[in-house]
Amino acid sequence: MDFGLSEQHRRVRETAARVAREVVAPRAAAVDREGVYPQDYFEAFRDAGLLGLAFPPEAGGAGAGSLGLALAIEEVAKYDSSAGLLLLTTRLATAGIAMAGTPEQQDRYVRGVAEGRLRGCFALTEPGAGSDAANIATTATRDGDGFVLNGTKLWAGQATVADFAMVVAKTDPAAGARGVSAFLVDLPNPGFRVVRELPKMGVLGVPVVELDLRDCRVPAAALLGEENQGFRLVMRHLNVVRPLVAARGVGLAAGATQYALAYAKQRRTFGRPLIEHQAIAFKLAELAMEVEAARLLTYRAAWLVDQGGSDRDIAHHLSIAKATASEVAVRASEQALQILGGYGYLKDYATERYYRDAKQLTIVEGTSEIHRLIISRALDDGLLDWGYDVEAAGGLPDAECGARSAERGMGAVAGAE
Ligand SMILES: Cc1cc2nc3c(=O)[nH]c(=O)nc-3n(C[C@H](O)[C@H](O)[C@H](O)COP(=O)(O)OP(=O)(O)OC[C@H]3O[C@@H](n4cnc5c(N)ncnc54)[C@H](O)[C@@H]3O)c2cc1C
Repeated sequence: MDFGLSEQHRRVRETAARVAREVVAPRAAAVDREGVYPQDYFEAFRDAGLLGLAFPPEAGGAGAGSLGLALAIEEVAKYDSSAGLLLLTTRLATAGIAMAGTPEQQDRYVRGVAEGRLRGCFALTEPGAGSDAANIATTATRDGDGFVLNGTKLWAGQATVADFAMVVAKTDPAAGARGVSAFLVDLPNPGFRVVRELPKMGVLGVPVVELDLRDCRVPAAALLGEENQGFRLVMRHLNVVRPLVAARGVGLAAGATQYALAYAKQRRTFGRPLIEHQAIAFKLAELAMEVEAARLLTYRAAWLVDQGGSDRDIAHHLSIAKATASEVAVRASEQALQILGGYGYLKDYATERYYRDAKQLTIVEGTSEIHRLIISRALDDGLLDWGYDVEAAGGLPDAECGARSAERGMGAVAGAE
């Protein structure tokens, strides 16, 4: 076991940390206040080579894998969750293409994103279907040698600046999950309209929108993977993105904790610094424990994706990382705000923004409840096995409660006489 980072990953982290300090940190408050897509972040990430981190060199990337991208996302998300999301969209727009795209699709979209020439968005969720993704109502009907898409999508992040969209639709509406396909829609397209930006609570630098797809025509070459096989592809796509959402959580939690720690050393109450009051010191210690645990889970999840293990074998580990890190981010932002007292509640300081930004993390890429569903099913299926031998531990009580006591000559079941 080796907990050290490779030379390449150390360099990625250093580069991302520099961009985070020099470009993101000084702008984060203004990006939140103005709610405008931070083009300067995008250009700085492109110039520093961060947009292609996850992709192999033959696709125009740096070959640093999911772990490399997770490290960079963590660094920039320490100062601004919008920056973490912006970097994450490089993978959110392309993970499925990297898995199932034709050589032409890979060359156009993956290379385009890696080189910073294209931006993409991912449109799965609808007003009537989020967690229950197989229930989407958007249709894609064959028309000549192409398809026509119709429906409404909600939430597609960064669609306002996107050059293409991965849109998920039903090609066989009667077949449920077996009738789902994915399409790559080049933008602009006259049938693809941004209806409005959704007025959300945080992460205000990256807009999310409602989309109206009306007779949106795409050529046959827009189909991603096989027709009607899109549901599995989308689930695999989401799996790849989960460690990256976790990295946003680790970054935000670490940033909030360090901000609060610095304040706790400076602020004096009752004659001493806050950090010397045990109630505050222990809060910070607990946050440190949680951040470190979430970080290890996140790195392992990204590493597992890079090892290319089967989805059945790794999905629950990705869920554990994503659910843990996102919930740690929520707790850390809440506690950091508390440690700043009244100042924490002011828009003048970062903690108020961290608090609003954190909550999104427990909803996107599978809510905390859906991840508990995945983890509990893995437990039930024996996929999370820590090598415990129940028989060696004396076995379980059986339906004939008390039989064991009788065998041992301890008489009948207590209370039965
Ligand atoms: C800021 C933001 C950005 C987003 N970006 C994108 C994007 O780029 N592209 C995209 O396609 N989508 C995006 N989403 C949508 C996001 O993926 C969905 O909001 C999420 O999947 C949950 O779906 P829902 O909102 O429809 O909630 P629902 O699925 O309706 O769930 C409502 C509540 O019920 C719970 N629940 C649902 N089913 C179960 C169950 N079986 N057991 C227990 N609890 C359950 C959920 O956990 C949740 O608490 C974004 C969302 C947000 C907030």
